[in-house]
Amino acid sequence: MTFAPRPVATTDRPAVALYSDTLTLPSEAMKRAMFDAALGDEQAGLDPTVNELCRRVAALFGKEDAVFLPSGTMCNQIAMLVHCRPGDLVLAHEDAHVLAHEAAAGSALGGVLIGGLRGARGQFDSATLTGAIRARSRYAPIPRLLVIEQTSHLGGGSVWPLERLRDVAACARSNDMALHMDGARLMNGVISSGVSASDMARDFDSVWLCFSKGLGAPFGAVLAGSSEFIDVAWRWKQRLGGAMRQVGMYAAACIFALDHNVQRLVEDNANASRLAAGIADLPGLAVQQPDTNIVLFRTEGTGLTSAELRDRLAAEGVSVTAMDHFLGRAVTHMHVDRDGIDLAIGAFRKVLGAN
Ligand SMILES: *Cc1c(COP(=O)(O)O)cnc(C)c1O
Repeated sequence: MTFAPRPVATTDRPAVALYSDTLTLPSEAMKRAMFDAALGDEQAGLDPTVNELCRRVAALFGKEDAVFLPSGTMCNQIAMLVHCRPGDLVLAHEDAHVLAHEAAAGSALGGVLIGGLRGARGQFDSATLTGAIRARSRYAPIPRLLVIEQTSHLGGGSVWPLERLRDVAACARSNDMALHMDGARLMNGVISSGVSASDMARDFDSVWLCFSKGLGAPFGAVLAGSSEFIDVAWRWKQRLGGAMRQVGMYAAACIFALDHNVQRLVEDNANASRLAAGIADLPGLAVQQPDTNIVLFRTEGTGLTSAELRDRLAAEGVSVTAMDHFLGRAVTHMHVDRDGIDLAIGAFRKVLGAN
């Protein structure tokens, strides 16, 4: 049996690469910051640049402490390992990354059962959450942790409104559940809504931010929480082989991203809206208007599968992702400007026969 690499694009160098914001490259200025970083042994707590990054992210979220990790997946997995014991129930949206895109690590490594909640645009309300929490009995798995994605990836980058976050968090808390926020693209949501990261994270025991997507660093994610939480998270980081050495070089890229690449997310969000508006009227294409930088479109009505549409767009120099049979995704980021978006709109219109 083989495990094929995930097909992301059909051309190596598309003119307009919208398949993911993970393809962003460090700028020359970011590389200089990396080159100049003060370094030390991260595993021993002696890398000053990593320490500064962790302080910055903890403060951003209003938490006591933070830990630098190689990836967002490791942030989610370590959070589940800290909050849960084998056999516990984790609740998340049915399309959540932690459920659908982490190679079942929650069950393979943590022994948890992840239950999927339904709701439009990757979100759900407290009534849905309440409905999923069964009365305590010796039969039912114990619901231990609620995971929320801010923004919701397969919800099309949707931003959870603060009121709904508060409501769902209160419901989880009253049922003795811990709360974890997957903040892979949280800053896109901050920029779009004007709500601060610390307000979004207030009710959550753990929260993380990804630096290797729209923020443009080559590597890394930072997980924040109470000192006690981070203490245990560090044990899991060590255990999983995630402790590192002179990674201040990478932390410097993340600090640079916090200083220079957050405000500009407003452009990515605006470009996604422009793309969605420019293809909204195409016959048979169902386009979701985005809150942030992810445009989802369903292709049933066009007579094409999402892979067929992807391949035809690729021939026009535009790469998008086929998420499932009829669901396509375009993600905006710093290497695609307004002209690139207009090229992409032109390609969609040509392929789907409108002008
Ligand atoms: C990308 C992503 C992750 C995982 O981050 P990696 O750094 O790729 O491991 C987790 N959650 C969401 C919502 C994501 O989009």
